[in-house]
Amino acid sequence: MEIKGIGVSPGIAIGKACVIKKKQAAVTGILLIDDTEIAVEIERFDNAVILAITEIEGIKNNPALADEDIAILETHIELIGDPQIKDDVTELITAERKNANDAIIEVTQNMVELFRNMDDEYMQARAADMEDIGNRILKHLIGVDTPATQKFEPDTIIIAEDLSPSDTITMDLNCISGFATHAGSTTSHSAIIARARGLPAVVGCGASIMSIQDGDAIIIDGISGQVYVNPGDETIHQLKIKRKQFILQTGKLKQLKDIPAVTTDGTAIILSANISGAADMDNVFHHGGQGVGLFRTELLFMNRNTYPTEDKQFEFYKQTALKAKGKPVIVRTIDIGGDKQIPYFGLPAEENPFLGYRAIRICLDREDIFITQLKAILRASVFGELKIMLPMIAGVLELRQAKCILEKAKKQLLEDNFPFNTGIELGIMIEIPSAAITADILAKEVDFFSIGTNDLCQYTLAVDRMNEKIAHLYDPFNPGVLRLIRNVIEQANRHQIHVGMCGEMAGDPLATVLLLGMGLKEFSMSATSIHNIKNNIIHTDMAEAKRVCEKVMGLDNPDDIKTYLQQFIK
Ligand code: PEP
Ligand code: MG
Repeated sequence: MEIKGIGVSPGIAIGKACVIKKKQAAVTGILLIDDTEIAVEIERFDNAVILAITEIEGIKNNPALADEDIAILETHIELIGDPQIKDDVTELITAERKNANDAIIEVTQNMVELFRNMDDEYMQARAADMEDIGNRILKHLIGVDTPATQKFEPDTIIIAEDLSPSDTITMDLNCISGFATHAGSTTSHSAIIARARGLPAVVGCGASIMSIQDGDAIIIDGISGQVYVNPGDETIHQLKIKRKQFILQTGKLKQLKDIPAVTTDGTAIILSANISGAADMDNVFHHGGQGVGLFRTELLFMNRNTYPTEDKQFEFYKQTALKAKGKPVIVRTIDIGGDKQIPYFGLPAEENPFLGYRAIRICLDREDIFITQLKAILRASVFGELKIMLPMIAGVLELRQAKCILEKAKKQLLEDNFPFNTGIELGIMIEIPSAAITADILAKEVDFFSIGTNDLCQYTLAVDRMNEKIAHLYDPFNPGVLRLIRNVIEQANRHQIHVGMCGEMAGDPLATVLLLGMGLKEFSMSATSIHNIKNNIIHTDMAEAKRVCEKVMGLDNPDDIKTYLQQFIK
């Protein structure tokens, strides 16, 4: 049997299945408490929280853990201690007479739903963190003991619904050759850990994966996203050859880590990464990233029930600035709204959320929210090389209004004697077609552009980026999208401002030569794609890239463009 999923960590793993099945905790709804038990239940919850934190601190002391594991555990300690969770649980105990077990299950399930329904893959993956901390607190409420480390036979392939951060951290990974899961995405924990450890992994395989039995022979192809169950001799033979080639190839790519991203004729290109918090920084440097081309700040706003204060935000940006060790970090102001709904923002339901009240549109309307974020970023700017980037700018009037508010934020900080980088750079995302078309006008008013191809593509082609039914129409190689991208890059270069790209296209190896030929200066992507893109850059000559670009721009449809680029790469 062959099962198709999403390959999230490349490589070929050959081994025997170990199927992990989990029981889902469910609210009983029956053990309602009376008045006299309220204080007891709250105390039980408080004790469980202390035990959960102590337990994680203990796990953290394991010297075998990788930086990624420690970062996850630290996030969990912070989440478990979040006063919002305590408030919500206390409210359910006191107002609804729920027992502490049911209360924590309900609170975490609500949070998990909230994260799962977000459009951003990274945010969706955070649902696993919430589920994990809920289960951990529950475990201490119930008093169940679990082994500190799970041991496996050599060459085990883990088959699971999904793997929580605690699962992957407590597993003895030395004997594990790979993972295949029913659920998950490129940014789920199992995917992050698998990539960090170099273990092949395929996620999002669907329900059929759970028909695999313990001991079945399994081959995971993390490159194609294929899982082979009890494969025949010929398949095994072919995949062994593929594994050998992969090992040779990756060995070479890894050697690129400290090699500069310079074309054969000496043009230096910046390769940076997209992050959502300080915890991601280690991974950026681990893959040779030169900084951060997109710091999505929504995470800080999503994990809670009230607006984060200026001080709380300041800490969040400061930690990231410090971890970036002087390398540039482009901080994007909040891109909330559309389908990234946050209850406490009180956003109205809309017919067309993607065309609605979102991102900079909210910020210009709700100056209080915007100015608080701007002041926090400015204050953090003395701890590193932070830059500010505005999302969803459609035209110059919005930009000018945003600049006025930025000036107000600076003035207030000066009056209150807060130090900040007075020369902080300001840039905008180019992700709306009107902005791409008027790039010549906008270029006169900012320090840099960053092209957001994810939204630019959806708005140019009128294709909802979340709608699977029309996914085949979503194509950044469409000549309409390419003409806009080329215009943005040309105008930025003409006006001598920096131009980067932080949409997914920047990490697509098929696009590298074309984008170089257009004159793109910075490629920002998921950290794990950096080696691959660097490999393309160091083998490219700029004169040739320009010829490729001219040829592509003369073709009239995306299929011919991609075929031509594939042949060129070969
Ligand atoms: C984009 O639109 O290309 C982008 C990088 O932003 P996001 O995916 O967060 O909308
Ligand atoms: Mg966008």
